[in-house]
Amino acid sequence: MERTFVMIKPDGVQRGLVGEILSRFEKKGFKIVAAKFGVLPEAIVDKHYEEHLAKPFYPGMKAYITSGPVFRFVLEGDNVIATVRKMNGATNPTEAAPGTVRGDFALSIGKNVIHASDAPESAAREIGIHFTATELVAYVKIDETQLYE
Ligand code: ADP
Ligand code: MG
Repeated sequence: MERTFVMIKPDGVQRGLVGEILSRFEKKGFKIVAAKFGVLPEAIVDKHYEEHLAKPFYPGMKAYITSGPVFRFVLEGDNVIATVRKMNGATNPTEAAPGTVRGDFALSIGKNVIHASDAPESAAREIGIHFTATELVAYVKIDETQLYE
């Protein structure tokens, strides 16, 4: 079963969107296997956004992403990585379809409410950055056997 790393960014937390967003993924049928709330340490941000370290927008993004608490969690389910990316919508909210998190709740690329891993390799890498093995909870969800063919 596939897992992905998801993070509601400071703007999403400040606007009270944590419940709304988490609810979308729960209703879809994905299983929450880990969760954490707090301000990101700078070292974690640099590791998490390794591929963007040299980009001109990075200093501004780092200041913003550490400006307040974020809500981080890990979801599990069939094809969860690609499905959550789809449910989040395009990186630039002006291009994000209605019905997606960014399409419904965001207006600018810098404050686009949510992050999710984009591939199996990045999911494994990001889960490892944000959670220890013991923080990932293995359990059976009561409706699990009904959700999959
Ligand atoms: P995604 O979050 O969809 O995976 P990227 O990995 O390309 O998108 O970028 C990471 C984050 O960096 C984006 O979600 C966005 O908040 C920020 N970002 C990307 N490009 C820009 C930009 N040109 N200006 C400001 N922020 C940006
Ligand atoms: Mg990305």
